[in-house]
Amino acid sequence: MLFGRNVKNPVKMADKGVVKWTYSTCGYCSTGCSIEIGSNAAGKPVSTRGVGGADVNRGKLCLKGIFEYQVFEAPGRGEKPMMRNGIHEPYRSVNWDQALDKMASEIKRIQRSYGRDSFAIVSTGQLLTEEFYTLGKLARGVIGSNNYDGNTTLCMASAVSGYKRSFGSDGPPGCYEDFEHTDCLIAWGSNLPEQHPIIYWRLKEALEKRKFPLIVVDPRVTMLAQFADIHLAITPGTDVVLQNALIHVILAEGLEDRDYIDENTTGFEELAAEVQNYDPETASKLCGIDAETIRTVARYYAKADRAMSIWTMGINQSTHGSDGVVGINNLNLVTGNIGKPGGTSLSITGQCNAMGTREWSSCSGLPGYRVLEKPEEREEIAKFWGVDPEFFPKQRGLTETDIFPAIEAGDIKGLWLVATNPMTSMPNTDRIRKTLEKLECLVVQDCYADAESNQYAHIFLPAATWAEKEGVFTNTERRVNITRQVKAPYADSKSDLEIFNLLAKRFEQGQKIEFPERPSEVFEEMKQLSKGRLCDISGMSHDLIEQKRGIQWPYTEDQAKRGEKGAQRLYTEPRSFRYKDGRAKLIPLPFINDNEVPDEEYPFWLNSGRLVEHWHTRTKTGKIGNNNKFSPIPFMEMNPEAAEELGIRHQTYARAVSRRGDAVVMVMLTQRVPKNMVFIPFHFFDCVNRLTLGLLDPHSRQPAFKQQAVRIETVDQDVAARMNKASRNY
Ligand code: SF4
Repeated sequence: MLFGRNVKNPVKMADKGVVKWTYSTCGYCSTGCSIEIGSNAAGKPVSTRGVGGADVNRGKLCLKGIFEYQVFEAPGRGEKPMMRNGIHEPYRSVNWDQALDKMASEIKRIQRSYGRDSFAIVSTGQLLTEEFYTLGKLARGVIGSNNYDGNTTLCMASAVSGYKRSFGSDGPPGCYEDFEHTDCLIAWGSNLPEQHPIIYWRLKEALEKRKFPLIVVDPRVTMLAQFADIHLAITPGTDVVLQNALIHVILAEGLEDRDYIDENTTGFEELAAEVQNYDPETASKLCGIDAETIRTVARYYAKADRAMSIWTMGINQSTHGSDGVVGINNLNLVTGNIGKPGGTSLSITGQCNAMGTREWSSCSGLPGYRVLEKPEEREEIAKFWGVDPEFFPKQRGLTETDIFPAIEAGDIKGLWLVATNPMTSMPNTDRIRKTLEKLECLVVQDCYADAESNQYAHIFLPAATWAEKEGVFTNTERRVNITRQVKAPYADSKSDLEIFNLLAKRFEQGQKIEFPERPSEVFEEMKQLSKGRLCDISGMSHDLIEQKRGIQWPYTEDQAKRGEKGAQRLYTEPRSFRYKDGRAKLIPLPFINDNEVPDEEYPFWLNSGRLVEHWHTRTKTGKIGNNNKFSPIPFMEMNPEAAEELGIRHQTYARAVSRRGDAVVMVMLTQRVPKNMVFIPFHFFDCVNRLTLGLLDPHSRQPAFKQQAVRIETVDQDVAARMNKASRNY
C-alpha cells in the first residue's frame, strides 16, 4: 500500500531550459542570501535558486529572491541616456558622451559659481562595494564636494552612530550563528518574517533546536510578536525609557556582570546614576509596559548565560534612534553580553550593501572606516590616491536629510542621485518635490527610468542592475559575498563603475588619479587600504569569496594563509573595543519626549514599515508580477473599534491626514494595531511619506518615520477607487 506523498501527484516544476547556473548574492536585503541565476541556451536569465552549501541561507530564498531573475527585463528599465533643458520639457535620447560631457560641465559651472559644496551627491545601499569605493574616490578626490551622503541615512545611520558612541567604531559585533547559542533574545522594532525572512528562518530553526525566551518590543502585533513568548507593546518612541528601566532593575537586584563592567567599560557610575530615575513604576507611565513585566524581562535577560538583542527600523527611525542603539549596547555591556557566542548586539541591516557603503563609500569620511576629522587618515588616503591632503575637508559635510533643506535654502544648486528615489522614500514628499524643482541641475542615475525622482531630473543615466555587473556586497553579519555577472547590461545602460570612471576622466584631477576599470582591480586597492583596519579584507579575493560562499571580515592575509574562517564576532578579547583604552563606553541616556504625539485634532499614531513582497520604493518589485500581485495597492491597518466609531468599514477607502498632507488608502481592519494607531507600508509613491514629518535624530540625522500624528476621515468611495486605479496605471 502506498502512503503519503507516494499517492499524490508529484509537483512538476516547469522546465525552463536552464543550461548554466551563475553564482551570485541576492541584490535586495542585507540578509545576504547566496543565489544562483539560471540562464537558458540563449543566455537569458530564466530562474533563480538558493545555494545549498551557503551558510547564510542554506538553499532557501524568500519571495523576492525566488523571482529576482525577472528584474533584468522588468518594465521601466532605462535604455539610453536622456537630457532636457528644463523639467517641463520632454526628454531627448542622447549618447553617453553627450550626457557625461553635459554632466561634467554642469558640475564645474555650479561649483565655479557657488562654491565646491554647492553640488551634492546622494547615493544608496544597492551598489557593489567596488562601485561605492570608486564613487567615494570620485566624490572626495575629484569633484571634492563635502555634501556627499548615502540613503542609508534613512535606514542604518542610527546603528552606525550608536556603535561608534558605545564601541568606538561602526561594525556589528554578532552573527546569525549567535541564535544557536543564546539563552534569551530581545527583538527591538524588528519584524523579521516580513523584513528579513531568511534571518527569521535561522532564528526559528535555532528556537526549534533549543527553546529560549523570545521577547519582542513593538507597538504593533507584528508577525514576529505573534511568535514571541513576551510581547511588549511599547508606546512609540520610548524604547530608551524601557532600556533604562531594565538596567535599573538589573542594578537594583545585583544582576549585573561586575567583572565584565570593571574590565571592559568606562562610565558605569554615570549610567547607574541616570537609571536611578527610571524605576519600573515611573518608566511604566512613559513607555506603557507594566512594572512587573519590566522586572520579569530584566531578570530573564540578566540571568541568561548568554543574551542578545537584535533591532531594525523600530529603533533606528526615531528621534532617539542613536540613543536606542546605545541603550541596547548599555544593556549588553552591563550584563557582559558582547563578543561571546549568543551574547551580542546585532543590528539587522536594510539594503543588500548598506554595510558596503558604510565601510568603503567615503560618505561619512574616508574608505575603510577612516574619518575626515583625523589628519593622519586624510594624509594616508591622499597619498594612496595621489591627491593633495588639503583637498579633503576636515570634517564631514551634510547628511542626506540636511542636503534637501540646504537646497531649499539655496546653498545647494546641483544634485546627483545614484540609485535612490527620494520622491518616494523621504519624509514629507510634497516638500521634497518643491525642493527638487529648485535645482539648476538634477542628475538621476538609476536602473529604472520610471523612478519617480526622475520626473524632476535634467539628465538621466541608465545604470546596469545587480548581476549585469560584478563585485561584492557585505551583509548584516559582516559577510562579504560576490555577485558574478550573468549577462551584459540592459540595452545601452552601463555599470555604475563604468559611469563613475567615465565621469572622472572629464575632470583634470580625475585624469591624474588612477581609476581601475575591472572590479577585481578595484577590490585589490580596497584590500591594500584595509590592512590593519577593523574591516580588514586583505585575505580575501573574488574567487576565494565565491569558493567559501562569503567570508566575514576581519579576514587578514595571515588568516587566509592558515585557512581559517572569517571572524564570526568582534570584541571577543578583553579590552578590545576601538577606543584608545580598549574599553566600551557606558553612556547615560536621559529621555526627553520630543516626538509629534497624537492630540485631539490628530488622535492616531501613524506607524510605517515594510511588506515581505516589496522592496523599498517598488522600482523593482512593483513590476514583478509575483511580487506585486500579493500587494498591489497601499493599505492602512486600523483597529476595528476605532473604525467603528468613525463609521469606516473593512476594505473601504479612507483618508489619513497629517499636518503635512493626506493619503487615501484602503482600510484593513485588524487587531494588529491598538485603537490609537494606524499602520501604512512605506513602499508606495504618493502615500505614507506625504504624511510623515521626519524629525531628525540629533546624532545620526536619521528621520523619525514611525512617530507622528494623523486623523482618519471617510471619503467618497467611487472617487477614491478611480484615483487609486489611475495611480496604478504606470
Ligand atoms: Fe534576498 Fe533578503 Fe530574501 Fe534573502 S531574505 S532572498 S537576501 S530578499
